[in-house]
Amino acid sequence: MLPKTIWDKVLAQLTPPKDDKDKGKFNGKKFPGRFQGKEDEQDLIDDNDKSHQHWKLKENENFSRAFYRNQKECPKTVDGRLVCMKFFLRGVCTKSCSRAHTLNKEDTKAFDKFVAECRVGAGKPDF
Ligand SMILES: [Zn+2]
Repeated sequence: MLPKTIWDKVLAQLTPPKDDKDKGKFNGKKFPGRFQGKEDEQDLIDDNDKSHQHWKLKENENFSRAFYRNQKECPKTVDGRLVCMKFFLRGVCTKSCSRAHTLNKEDTKAFDKFVAECRVGAGKPDF
């Protein structure tokens, strides 16, 4: 048997503190994934170019059916980088993405053609 004074000390350590000060500390650690999510958000970039609006995925369009399966046909920019379909079709991408997010006149024309062809292709049945 342990003397009562020692038991009191052991119990004090086992029982979580209930005063408001410690409660606040606990709340601060309530969302462990929050900081990670915030970092991802800061990494996002948007395509706000109005001349790209017609490329944007429409509500009734399926990204993988219309575009993703044609990604091999996706044009490259004049400096040899793959055009980022996600950025121009979905309007968002991340800074860490290595694909091209800026297009010159020629690149724009090529991508425009690609998008139009994908849309025509998506309307045909799969065989
Ligand atoms: Zn991208």
